[in-house]
This record gives sequence, C-alpha cells and structure tokens, in this order.
Amino acid sequence: MNKVIPMFQLATVALLASVLAACTHTPTTKQAAAKSITDSTITVDKLMADIKILSDDSFGGRAPGTEGGRMTMDFIEGKYRAAGLKPMFGNSYRQEVSMVSITANPKTVTATLRQGQHAKSLKYGPEIMLGTSQIVDNVSVLNSQIVFAGYGIVAPEYEWDDYMGLDVKGKTIMVLVNDPGFASQDPYLFNGNAMTYYGRWTYKYEEAARQGATGMIIVHETAPASYPWKVVESSWSGPQLVLDSENGNMDRLAFESWVTKDVAIEMIKSSGYDFETLKLEALSNDFEAIPLNWKISIQLQNSLEKSSSYNIGGIIPGSSKPDELFFYTGHWDHLGTDASITDGSDNIYNGAVDNASGIAALIALANNFSQLEKAPARSIGFLAVTAEESGLLGSGFYAANPAFALNKTVGGVNMDALSVYGPTDDVVVVGYGSSSLEDQLKIAAKAQNRTVEPEPTPEKGFFYRSDHFNFAKKGVPVLYAKGGVKHREKGEQWMRDINAYHIANRYHAPSDEINSDWDLRGMVEDLQLFFDIGLHFANSSETPYWYEGNEFKAIRDASLAQ
Ligand SMILES: [Zn+2]
Repeated sequence: MNKVIPMFQLATVALLASVLAACTHTPTTKQAAAKSITDSTITVDKLMADIKILSDDSFGGRAPGTEGGRMTMDFIEGKYRAAGLKPMFGNSYRQEVSMVSITANPKTVTATLRQGQHAKSLKYGPEIMLGTSQIVDNVSVLNSQIVFAGYGIVAPEYEWDDYMGLDVKGKTIMVLVNDPGFASQDPYLFNGNAMTYYGRWTYKYEEAARQGATGMIIVHETAPASYPWKVVESSWSGPQLVLDSENGNMDRLAFESWVTKDVAIEMIKSSGYDFETLKLEALSNDFEAIPLNWKISIQLQNSLEKSSSYNIGGIIPGSSKPDELFFYTGHWDHLGTDASITDGSDNIYNGAVDNASGIAALIALANNFSQLEKAPARSIGFLAVTAEESGLLGSGFYAANPAFALNKTVGGVNMDALSVYGPTDDVVVVGYGSSSLEDQLKIAAKAQNRTVEPEPTPEKGFFYRSDHFNFAKKGVPVLYAKGGVKHREKGEQWMRDINAYHIANRYHAPSDEINSDWDLRGMVEDLQLFFDIGLHFANSSETPYWYEGNEFKAIRDASLAQ
C-alpha cells in the first residue's frame, strides 16, 4: 500500500473541507452531527481488515447454503451487534430467503430441431445452453413451433410491441439480446446506447412467460450481450438458484435458453430468411414476428434441492420519524468454491472486490452512524442481502417482503464491487440521470473537489445487474455509484487499464483477491460521500425522487399515493 497521508487524516480533511465549505452558513444539523463523530471508522485499515477476513479462503467464496455462507452471516451479525444496531426483522437480524437449487443433469439434456422429416440435435454447451426456473423434476417439450420475434419487447412508452397480434401459446420465441437503441446507436430509439431493462435477458424471459409462450431462445452475440459465449456456458451450468414460491414458479417458461449466433444464422437461413436483414427489420416498431421452419423438442432432468439463506439487517431507529427509512445495502454472497476443479489450481472464488468490499463498507458506515451523539430523525438501515449472484434473489425477496413499508423507504445506496485502485477525481453513477439522490451526491462530491459522471459503459446494462434494481422496480430510488476513472495521481489511462485488466482477469474469477495493486484511499472517500448523503436524508424531511421521464417514476408516484 503506497503511503501518502494516513487515511484517517485524509478522511478528516475531506470531512473538514465539507464543514469549512459551509462555514459561511450557520452549521446545519448535518454538520453538527458529522462533527460529533470523533473517530471515523471509515479508514483504509479497518476496511482492509474486514475485506481480508471475508475474502479469506476459509470463507470458501461465501456461497449461500455453504459453511462459508454461514460464517459470513455470523460475521456480519456480530459486527451489527458490536456497532449497537437493532435487529431489522422484529427481534431478528435475519430474514429467511427460501430458495431451490435446480441442477439440470447435462447427460439428460437434449434439444432437437425438426423441419419436416429432417431432425438436427443441438450440442448442449457449444451450441445451446438451457434450463428452467420452474421447480420441476424434468422438462419435456415436444415439437414447439419456433417464432422469430425481433427483440421480444413490449414497451408502451416507446409504442413498441413485438408480440402484436401474435398467439404464442405452446410456441417457442426466438429473440435478439439487448434493445433497438443499442443496435441502431440511435439516441432517440429506446435509450440509445444505454441498455434499457428491455435489453436484459431476464426481461426477455419474463415477457415471453407473460405472453404465454412455452419456451424462449435468445440469440447470443458478444457485443450486444457484452460478454462472450463462454460466460453463458459457465453461468448456465451447474446449480441455478431460484426463489421458492407457492406455485413452484409454474408461471415461468417451461424452458429458457441461449443459442450461438451461428446456430441462429443457420436456422433463419434454412427458413428462407437472412439473419442480418431480419436484424435490421427488427429495428422498426412495425416489425412483425416470423414463424421459422423449425420446431424444437426439449428433454432434461433436474435435481432439486431446497435451501434457505438469509438477508442480514440492522437499524439505528430514527429519533423522530422511526417509521421512515434511509438504507445502505450490498450483497454478501459470491460464487463459492468449484469442487469440480481438482487439479490443485485455485478453485475458490474469494470475491474480495465482489463483494467483500461492499460488506466492509456496510460495516464501516454502520459503525460511523452509531457514533453519532443523536440518532438521525429517520431510521438508518444496513441490509446485507444474499444470493445476488444467482439473480438478485435476496434483494428480490426483501423488496417483496420489506421490513419497512416501501413508500416509507425514502431511498438508499447500493454498494457492489467498490473501487479499490486508488483515489479519483470523479465518481461514476450507474444509471446516471435517474434521481435526486445524484443531486446530493454532487453536493457531497463538490466538498471533495470531485465531479459526478455517467458510467463509462451504459450499454452493458449494469443498472439492471445489481440489487438496487429490485428496489427501483418497486419505485424506491437507490443510488449505485463508485469511484471513477480519473485517478488523482496515476491518471485516467492507468485507471482504465487496471479496470480492463480486472474485468478480463479477476471479475468472477478465483483471482478476485486482495492484490498488491490495491489502494483503498478512493474507497474511503466514496464512503464519506455515501455517509454524507445518508445523513442528509436521514435528518431532513426531503424525499429523494425520480426525475421526470424515468421508467420507475410512475411506480413510485402510485406507491406514495397509497
Ligand atoms: Zn457483485
């Protein structure tokens, strides 16, 4: 760790700067409250100590339902108790999340295409990946007609309906990934280059199920998907966790699948069409779905295992408006240990950045708030959610079973994979331009002489790939931000290079560990910002709001009206 000014002093400098900046004004409740913190717990050493423990091999990569997962939950609850937090769920810090792991037995998976008498089997792995979210022992689909439906999107606000006039009962829908905005790079089509939720594979399956289809085939292309086929292959093999439900998820598709671009090109060509031409046509809201000359049959057997994991929540009850909540969240789980790797090479997905950093941040903020002489007016919550890596399951369960009414949940901050490579002059917001939380972020960042910027890669749809999204879907504004690319000392190119290196070599890999190139000074500054934002809203009657035109504003307005 290259030594500059010891972190604690820097934190104080940042804090003092914000106080001094406001000296022309009478000290606000916030500054008085902040000044009451004598020993900031947001320090490089304290953060590193907790990340070290959580990302240690002994935690086995923190998979839900494992010994490492249990140790993680105990560790977090212990820290909440030590910070003096009250339980969030009645008299418990734990909210049980019932899940089922569904494992398709690769030996039993068959996908057969038929065209008249001609039949062709697709190779599971190299050509097709598939499974089901239905909690069933086996899937058997026979000769389901395949229909190419463009992007498979129904978006009234864009006057778009790829299912217009289409009866998809019993059929299998083939669609393109991402949305027409990305494909056309037309800033006036959908949200231009920035992916909308309509571009996410999760949306595509949800919409096809809503339409009553039997199955779906998403065509994989690396650029619009923003990851290569091998990521589809790896993340779709092995146990898939889903939330347990009374109806056994029978409202989901009988099967969900991806095929490679080459397979799709072949299927479309042998149906008398050209893939690239169809892609162009699909960019218009006049596009009409096309039945292909293929039917598909799917067979597979699953092994099902019920398991439960827990969200871990603690609160500092509000002093005057305890039923109103501002909260911090982050997921505690990661990918665990890959027991199939037996050649002695590293098979533990330590998840130091993803997301031991976020949990260490949650603990540091909890300790910092608990030092306030007087609890803020509104309650402050700290929510470590489970099973994010399996599809945002823990936050999805919490959002459906909240401890505080969602229309009393004024807002929050999600901390997922924080910046560990040093101080930056910029802070990036994932989903920039969404809510007034960003206004408060800008005020806090200004006190640190930092600027707030949009995320560099909105086409990747990161806004839809972490836990804040489940709150947004219920209308609750949650900020997802972190240190940017303008490294204060090493410059922007250095930061872009190390970020690219991280994504290529450490993201979702056993090498996501504490490395010598780490520098948590940036993370400390980011947490100061998050602390300031929370303290501001916890002590004010102001409620964060979605900006006009935002896709979640209508949901919030309706929920606040209740
Ligand atoms: Zn993560």
